[in-house]
Formats: sequence, C-alpha cells, structure tokens
Amino acid sequence: MTPKAAVIGAGPVGCLTALGLQQRGYEVPNGTANGQSSVASSSKHPLSRSINLAISVRGLTALEFVDPSIAQMVLDNSVPMYGRMIHHKPSQDSRPHEKNFGDTNVKQESQAYSTRGDAINSVSRLLLSRLLLDETVNQGIEIRWAHRLQDVQFSYKGTEKSLLRFEVDKERQVEEVVDMIVGCDGHHSRIRKAIQTETEMNVTETSIDNLYSELHIPAKDELPPLLRHRDAVEGTSHKLVNGKYAIDPNHLHIWPRHDFMLIALANKDGSFTSTIFAPQRIYDNYLREPQSTIDFFANQFPDALQLIGEEALVQQICDRKPSPLGMVRCQSYHAHGQAIILGDSAHAMVPFYGQGLNCGLEDVRIFLEMLDEQSRSDKLTHSTQEKAFQQYSQSRHADLMAINDLALANFEEMSSNVVRKSYLLRKKLDTF
Ligand code: FAD
Repeated sequence: MTPKAAVIGAGPVGCLTALGLQQRGYEVPNGTANGQSSVASSSKHPLSRSINLAISVRGLTALEFVDPSIAQMVLDNSVPMYGRMIHHKPSQDSRPHEKNFGDTNVKQESQAYSTRGDAINSVSRLLLSRLLLDETVNQGIEIRWAHRLQDVQFSYKGTEKSLLRFEVDKERQVEEVVDMIVGCDGHHSRIRKAIQTETEMNVTETSIDNLYSELHIPAKDELPPLLRHRDAVEGTSHKLVNGKYAIDPNHLHIWPRHDFMLIALANKDGSFTSTIFAPQRIYDNYLREPQSTIDFFANQFPDALQLIGEEALVQQICDRKPSPLGMVRCQSYHAHGQAIILGDSAHAMVPFYGQGLNCGLEDVRIFLEMLDEQSRSDKLTHSTQEKAFQQYSQSRHADLMAINDLALANFEEMSSNVVRKSYLLRKKLDTF
C-alpha cells in the first residue's frame, strides 16, 4: 500500500519536502502541507513590498535537487551580491541634520566575498514562496489553508501510524491518520512539542537581546528629485550602480555600529529592504519617539536616512512593534519512525549569517537522500523510514549546532569585525 505522508507547514521548507516525498512515491494526501502560508503573511506586510532574503549555494543546491527549474527561476529573479559594502560612521564635522541632501561624509568600502567572483543572491521571499507553492499545487498536492495542527497521537491504536488533529475554524476539527509526519511548522513548531513530550528530545529555546525592524529604501525614481539626480550616495563604486538603484545593488550593505547595525539588500525592482538590528535599550532610548528616531538615524546612518526619508522612517519604526529574535536547538529530531522535524522547527537561528532558510532547504535534500539510501534495498516501509530518521538525526546534528553557533557569532563579524578588518587592511597597505 502507498504510504501516506503529512507535511505540516506550507513555508518554503514544507513545500520542498512535499514535492520531494511525492517524487518518492508517498501519497501526499489532501492537506499534505497544512497551515497558513508564508505568502499570506508576506502579503499582509503594511508596505506590501517584497521582503527579501539571501539565498546561497546551499539553498540553491537543495532546490535543484528537487526541481532544477525552481532553482533556475530563483536565480533568474535574484540580485547577486559579490561582497559587503561597509558604510562607515560619518565624521564629526558632517552636517547630517541639514536637509540639503549634500555630502553626508559617509565613506563606503567594498569587501569582496571571494577572489573568484562568488556571490550570494538577494531574492524576494514572496517570489520564492510563491514558486514553491505553485509547483506544489501543480503537482496535484492540495494545500489546506487555515488548518492549524492542534494535536498528534503517535502509534495510533497500537499501529505504526499517527493521528493528526487540525482546527479548521472554531467549530470544526479535522482528523487524519498518516504513516509519516514531517514537521516544517517553523520556530514555534507543534510537531517539535509533540515529539518532545513523547521522546527524550532535548530542546533549548533562547531569545537574544536584539530586536529588528524592516525599512524600505525606494527605487531611485521614487526618491526626491535632488537625490534622484545624483549618481549614487557618496563613495559608491559607480561602475556597478545600475540606473534604477540609489546604492550599489550588487553588495550587501552594512552600517556596522558595534552593538547595533543596519543592513540593506537589493530587490529586483530597484528598491532595497533594509533591517535595523538593535538591543532593547536602543529601542527604549532612541527608537520610540519620532524626533529621537530621526536624530538617531541622522547621527548614525545619515546616508540611509536620506534614502528612506524621515516620514517613512518614523512610520516604519515608531508605528510598528519591533520583532524579537531567538534560536531553537534540539538533540534528536524524530519520534518512533513516525515524525521528524526540518527547517526552523528544528533549528531556528538568528538571521546574521543569512543561512536559516538555506539550511532548512539543505535539511530537505539530506533527508530525501537518506530516504533514498535506505529504501534502495528495502522499498518504502516503516522500517526504511525509521532508519532514515535515525541516520538523519545522528549525522545532521553536528552541522546544525555549528551553523546555529556561526549565525550567532556573525553578529560580531557584521557589526564590528568588518570595520576592524578594514582598519587592519588599511594599516597594512599604509606600510607599503
Ligand atoms: P516558516 O517559513 O516559518 O514556515 C512555517 C509554516 O508552518 C508557516 O506556513 C506556518 O503558517 C505553518 N505553521 C506554523 N504552525 C502551524 C500549525 N500549528 N499548523 C499548521 N501549520 C503551521 N534565511 C536565509 O537563508 N537567508 C536570509 O537572508 C535570511 N534572512 C532572514 C532575516 C530575518 C529578519 C529573519 C527573521 C529570518 C531570516 N532568515 C533567512 C531565516 C528564514 O526566514 C527562515 O529560516 C525560514 O523562513 C524558515 O522556513 P520554514 O519553512 O522552516 O518555516
């Protein structure tokens, strides 16, 4: 009999998993990917603009493994970033408060990621989610929207199957019996909690003293005339600047200020999505009231303030609650050969390494490879599944711990070391 798999969560990791399992002969029943989509939440963003993320070889390889055409479409619709662009702190004699859009005295410095022209790619989250969702639907896998998983009963009626219970609306619940559950239900995963109560799974959830707010830098033709007609903000490497972008699109822009920082990644339409990361104390002292927010940006990020605009800055920072950041670490990722967790549900990490989703997509590739390896001799049975779960849990753990650590450590790298390194490099060059 064809085994039935249920994937919980219709985010990018869930959709890729559903596609991969269906290719391997699992019946992906109605509602394989149950849940609210990340597309729906993205489209509710007050700006209705594309929030982006960096996709690297790790994520692209996983997409290619399941569906090469999706990997190609993602690449075709992304903006390559060949290095970081450091926006140094303005010098004391700048006059950032004067709204003349003049020289902000901000020096920019390009730091290439490699000597071979390697790049990470800025892509719209909405586009990536939509490509995966469309392909999931095209392959005949039904996505059941607004099916919130409530409860899991493992070894249902003494079998190797599990019972899932979903809440559809306040009055209606739906139940389903399946052979395999893959929890791709994000940071606050229900499947992780169900596995945790059932097994010895060790889980650590940590929040860090850093909040973030997203800001929009418009395309050049949406900027005020004085800025629009400048080539770019002072110091940008002009040869790379495409006409529609206000700053160089082929760099990941960083304004490193030690215990806080601003970053910006280009979107295909000429705009940038910028993110400020700062501890609670900075939000409390500077980023609550409109004037102190403008003054803070004028002092710390005058070039970015020019591009964002004061009114938009106040709207995006003071009128919205900043979002928290946290991590999840687990030891062992499965229960009874019946359920396993992938993506953020297994290893949510802080975003400073730009690898959370890349790593989640890689989970899918490795998990599918292990299922293939185990089923080569054995066909798809409960025992194949269980062996693949065990192999995955054992072999993947060290890598997941390492990437979680690297993500945390990269805050220091982006907010401080990038400046120290350039300082050291200049010192070295000065000696010649
Ligand atoms: P999610 O995208 O969270 O999807 C989970 C899904 O499960 C959702 O559809 C949800 O509705 C559903 N769900 C939840 N609970 C239930 C339930 N009870 N029942 C049914 N369904 C449920 N990563 C990168 O690789 N590169 C980057 O540049 C990058 N930048 C980032 C910047 C920021 C500011 C942040 C916060 C994160 C960033 N990340 C980045 C990380 C990335 O966003 C996540 O790793 C990724 O979205 C996780 O995907 P996922 O599919 O595992 O989970």
